[in-house]
Amino acid sequence: MNLKTSNMNDLTLIGPFKQILPMTGISLKGSIPDSELTVLEDAGILMEDAKIRSIGKFSELQSEHTDAEVFRLEGDHVALPGFVDSHTHICFGGSRANDYALRNAGKTYLEIAKAGGGIWDTVTQTRKASKEELIKNIVKRANRHLKNGTTTIEVKSGYGLSVDEEVKILQAIKEADTKTSANLISTCLAAHMLPRDFNGNASAYLEEISTKLFPLLKEENLTRRIDAFIEESAFSETQIASYFKKAKAMDFDITVHADQFSTGGSKVAVAFGAVSADHLEVSTQTEIELLAKSDTIATALPGASLGLGCKFTPARKILDAGGALAIASDHNPGSAPMGDLLTQAAVLGAFEKLSNAEVLAGITFRAAAALRISNRGKLDDGYLADFCVFHTHNFNEILYNQGNLKPCMVWKNGELVYNKHKTP
Ligand SMILES: [Zn+2]
Repeated sequence: MNLKTSNMNDLTLIGPFKQILPMTGISLKGSIPDSELTVLEDAGILMEDAKIRSIGKFSELQSEHTDAEVFRLEGDHVALPGFVDSHTHICFGGSRANDYALRNAGKTYLEIAKAGGGIWDTVTQTRKASKEELIKNIVKRANRHLKNGTTTIEVKSGYGLSVDEEVKILQAIKEADTKTSANLISTCLAAHMLPRDFNGNASAYLEEISTKLFPLLKEENLTRRIDAFIEESAFSETQIASYFKKAKAMDFDITVHADQFSTGGSKVAVAFGAVSADHLEVSTQTEIELLAKSDTIATALPGASLGLGCKFTPARKILDAGGALAIASDHNPGSAPMGDLLTQAAVLGAFEKLSNAEVLAGITFRAAAALRISNRGKLDDGYLADFCVFHTHNFNEILYNQGNLKPCMVWKNGELVYNKHKTP
């Protein structure tokens, strides 16, 4: 007989924290003054298995739950919800370091492509890589993000660009998820660019993907999300509209690479009830208002702006218009090689004049909403016990240090998965 009861042996209390920012009581949309942040002092987190049982004063939790195992912290610590990175491309082979140098030296996109660079180079390298190599790469990158506080990471396919290669990538992401403590959420981005194999016939390619790949995604449970790059250099609004119609009919969630170099994508995103529209660097007031009125989360990708030397997503305007703003790293080998969410979010905050509350919401519960995940991004009863801990007395130090202050501990599903003090 199993004698284990719900409150015997499996409760863990961690604290006392100088501050806990639970990110609760804040709306999903619109601007957030820092005065709306709840800051709990001398607080503790009581966990039951993978979930948060209760948050409150450490001393009270300790006297109410004498059976809890106590993980006692010495010195000043601040806890935040584990970060959610809702947009990455960390499944890739090769490197584009040479492209980066060429681009910064003033070469055009075409010149770089002629020199053997560009996305197609990554496609070639990724196709060449075995599934095992891809898994190893994803796990290595995911573990680095995890150490930096990101406990949930979206990972897109999109460097395979054929039915078989996209399946290989999505299988690699699925398997990598079992090999890292971070949680990986996969997205099919077969509509990333038109593969050379199709000689300019975009409709034929999208038709092949929707008829052959979509059913496989369902059968093998490889993803519940379909993404597309709507851009002059990729796919048109009309092409993607009929592609999304098929995806919607099969009950996939839709997300869009929109308005990066030209507008149009956000309109399609809103029309199809996309969970998120990402990039938006060139969105004008028209697109901003359209997004703000919708349920689509607007996602800024400052890492791409930093990588390309382009302007940032108009995050301030999106929030002021009442939109929901998430911030993601876009970690990819071409335009956003840095892959450091906290640094990028802090830099975006400085350039776009965002409150700390807005930046932190953008990498926690608003990013979780962009993935349609409701059990993380906040520290509250019943949420997953995913949180990162910083060795500081004041949460404002975290963004002030612009990513240079790293977590000293990361907890995922109630388990300590990174502890600076114990890692050489
Ligand atoms: Zn992207």
